[in-house]
Amino acid sequence: MTATDSKRTARCGCGALTATVSGDPVTVYVCACLCCQRKSGSAFTYAAVFPSAAVTIAGERKAWRHIGDSGRWIESMFCPTCGISVGFQSEGMPGMTGVSVGCFADPGFVPPARLYWASRRHTWIALPEGVDVQDTQDG
Ligand SMILES: [Zn+2]
Ligand SMILES: [Zn+2]
Repeated sequence: MTATDSKRTARCGCGALTATVSGDPVTVYVCACLCCQRKSGSAFTYAAVFPSAAVTIAGERKAWRHIGDSGRWIESMFCPTCGISVGFQSEGMPGMTGVSVGCFADPGFVPPARLYWASRRHTWIALPEGVDVQDTQDG
């Protein structure tokens, strides 16, 4: 993907909650920590991080906060109707908003630069060359 000023919109399952982002993400990662496995109902989360000023959230939402395997809080926002998490903020990323990449429904989205908590990933997960693999999470 090339740098762009265009906007992209991530949506929950029912479409009521959206996160519209402008510009490219600061970073894109996947995280296989056990919290992320539960939160996503899958093997990992896949998140794109933007400056909060570049993210516009619209629609009714609820939030829940929990302590991640990193020991820091993470607050996820989700649609009260379908329950899908569209984005989050966290203690470890002040001023930033993470958006669930799957909610963009764009198979051409920026691939992850990093895998956090590789030590907890499902054993079948192999990663392409060039992904920075971290056994835990440093930041
Ligand atoms: Zn929804
Ligand atoms: Zn995680």
